[in-house]
Amino acid sequence: MRILPKHLLNAWVERLRIDHRVVAPRESHGQYIFDEITSADELVLDYHSSVLPPKKYFLPPREDLFTFNAKTMEMSPVIEEIEPTVIMALHTCDLHAIQLLDRIQGTGHVDQHYQARRRKTALVSIECMQPCMDQAFCKSLGTLSVPEQFDVHLTDLGDRYAVDVGSDAGEALIRGMGFFWKPSDTDYDRFNEVMAGKWPNFDYRLDCDVTDLPNLLGASHDSTLWDEIGERCLSCGQCTKVCPTCYCFDVVDEIDLKLEKGKRVRVWDSCLLEKFAVVAGGHDFRNSRANRLRHRFMRKGKYQLEAYGLLGCVGCGRCALSCPAHITPIATLNTLNERRQASPGESA
Ligand code: SF4
Ligand code: SF4
Repeated sequence: MRILPKHLLNAWVERLRIDHRVVAPRESHGQYIFDEITSADELVLDYHSSVLPPKKYFLPPREDLFTFNAKTMEMSPVIEEIEPTVIMALHTCDLHAIQLLDRIQGTGHVDQHYQARRRKTALVSIECMQPCMDQAFCKSLGTLSVPEQFDVHLTDLGDRYAVDVGSDAGEALIRGMGFFWKPSDTDYDRFNEVMAGKWPNFDYRLDCDVTDLPNLLGASHDSTLWDEIGERCLSCGQCTKVCPTCYCFDVVDEIDLKLEKGKRVRVWDSCLLEKFAVVAGGHDFRNSRANRLRHRFMRKGKYQLEAYGLLGCVGCGRCALSCPAHITPIATLNTLNERRQASPGESA
């Protein structure tokens, strides 16, 4: 651990800005968005959740993959110039989400576009001391503390930050900067006091243990709840857009009027949209809103854990906040749990 006095925070960020693009949460129309900052004065560390998660810097909503000439059949990959980037002030739930995306995008068919951006990006996270919104349930999902993989993690000790470094990329952000001090015994005592004091500020909101989620969802496959919430769902896809762990995409070819030159573009997609699971021949594998919702919940609480060893939900609460039909993970999972307890052995 090292110590960064608060009055030196801006000097450190300005130093980072010399050779990095620095991205941080900033206020926009009463909400917070991650955006490039042009001065350390714009930096906000004490923010509630951002509208879109920082995944947009690794998986942009839209990106060109390659250009082609349909007449000559030539193709050229679009190679993007990627600036060294530091993303500041990530909440630990978003850090857990990036850890999952790293695992998914680095397994099997490695996504080179994602990897290239990730390699050039260092992450500076901050310990959450208060819930960022009513809908968050990070404590229940175990994402209220820093995951195994992190670069630099800050903990607010009052007039100074405790600075933990978890990687070589993190070490490179602070080495030789002259802003960081060795901690004293008083700093360690203060750190322990702050960390012990934060936990009662957060509630456990999930009625079952997080390790029971795959069993709960497995037992709830035929639950009538999927039809009930399916009746309310508008298939708008908003919940997947704001989700820090959703990564599904579609590819479309855009071609000029002469049908000669074009490009292949990748755009975000959503498993909640009506045509998502339609395949060649017109068959739709998930042709009802109930099926699509169930699939999303199964992915988050069961399938991704089985495939990658990490849950697909980090409890950020963004989907609950943004759903126009007020469909929330906590209400859904707790209702499934309640029904399972009321009828053990039957589908909840
Ligand atoms: S499913 Fe909802 S609560 Fe879970 S990570 Fe995605 S947006 Fe956050
Ligand atoms: S945000 Fe709500 S209404 Fe829209 S697709 Fe998701 S669950 Fe359905």
